[in-house]
Amino acid sequence: MKHDSDVIIAGGGLNGPALALALASAGLSVTLVDAAPARQRATDTFDGRAYALAIASQKLLRAIGVWDGLAEQAQPMMEVKAADGHAGEGAAPFFLHFDARELDQAPVGYMLEDRYLYRAFLDAMEASDKITLLHETQVTGQQVVPGGVEVSLSTGKTLTAKLLIGADGRRSGVAERAGITREGWGYGQTALVAAVEHEKPHNGIAQQFFMPTGPLAILPLKGNRSSIVWSETEENAKTISALDDEAFLAVLRPRFGDFLGEIKLAGPRFSYPLNLTLAKAYVAPRVALVGDAAHGVHPIAGQGLNLGLRDVAALAEIVVEAMRRGEDIGAEDVLERYQGWRRFDSTSLALGMDTVNKLFSNDNPLLKAGRDLGMGLVQAIPGLRRGFMQQAAGLSGPLPRLLQGRAL
Ligand SMILES: Cc1cc2nc3c(=O)[nH]c(=O)nc-3n(C[C@H](O)[C@H](O)[C@H](O)COP(=O)(O)OP(=O)(O)OC[C@H]3O[C@@H](n4cnc5c(N)ncnc54)[C@H](O)[C@@H]3O)c2cc1C
Repeated sequence: MKHDSDVIIAGGGLNGPALALALASAGLSVTLVDAAPARQRATDTFDGRAYALAIASQKLLRAIGVWDGLAEQAQPMMEVKAADGHAGEGAAPFFLHFDARELDQAPVGYMLEDRYLYRAFLDAMEASDKITLLHETQVTGQQVVPGGVEVSLSTGKTLTAKLLIGADGRRSGVAERAGITREGWGYGQTALVAAVEHEKPHNGIAQQFFMPTGPLAILPLKGNRSSIVWSETEENAKTISALDDEAFLAVLRPRFGDFLGEIKLAGPRFSYPLNLTLAKAYVAPRVALVGDAAHGVHPIAGQGLNLGLRDVAALAEIVVEAMRRGEDIGAEDVLERYQGWRRFDSTSLALGMDTVNKLFSNDNPLLKAGRDLGMGLVQAIPGLRRGFMQQAAGLSGPLPRLLQGRAL
């Protein structure tokens, strides 16, 4: 059966474009459909969103050809420090400290603003003759047909392909229409996200303060700027969000502390309600899910996008190998290989972050003693600490080629 393209991807956030580029690099034809206008996120002003990219993710970006254009905008993270914190008291002594020099390769990771990453993906997709981009268009329906899948669009058009990818985020319509159910829960927390400018240099150090109401991450951006991801109870967050910028800073300052000198806002503020949502399956006939469509996690360890890029790398490798062997890339056994590779890893990481958040977002003295002991052990035993760092860098477990920086 002749198809419009080999693969249709629903969702042009970050994971959809990364997968489109990976597949196109191996010669597959891809149609990417996104509901949003193309340049909406590729603005010149910082919109507050930034990602902590693990080294493995950076290697993938290099392998799919977008890293060279991004390297200058990426802030290397040299150290990660974590401590208990209370408003007004500043942070307690650090109970965890990861230093890039302990890994064979520095840095620990990179901070990159969304606008640069998104634009790099968009430019690379526009330059590829293997990728057709349909923006301001929604996928509204899908149906398995002999030898493929037929996808309906909001424009009234239908397209066919061998495989449909759901990269359409936490409320994935592709998953829902395929009958994939989800499990998860709300955290009763909201993340307040903004960029701040500070007097003193951050020296590439990322900090995480565990407050009783939720963690505050201070992540280094280029220049004397940092991105904050400040999780608060829904109620507190609502009150804080309603404040004007000066009043917002007055609440932030005692939590942030003065280690970077005077702080001020360097852009607009955002808030994201936090919840965990895990798809019960990553595949269905002629369908596979990647990124937040498969697993929406707590931002506590900044792993959401990194997890998605691991899906991208595994799925691209399996699909390209299947194509080279002459297999049907949308066949059930091909998709099962992907699910087998990724589902356990994502679910265990998502639940791990859930536990860390629960363990740290409170003031219970027993839990506090337990976590101090646990963290003290991690800090004291170099082998264990290196293990954690390898895990955070995305360098542990069976790694797909793209995460090793190798072409498909
Ligand atoms: C506060 C916060 C901080 C975070 N910090 C980090 C961090 O430091 N590091 C990190 O790795 N991750 C981080 N994350 C997670 C990261 O932002 C997400 O994991 C990532 O953006 C998900 O990308 P995605 O492409 O899977 O989905 P999305 O970005 O949600 O994209 C989905 C796309 O699908 C499109 N779409 C939806 N429905 C349709 C349809 N029917 N038809 C066509 N298109 C459709 C939408 O327009 C959208 O463009 C953070 C998240 C939050 C909330």
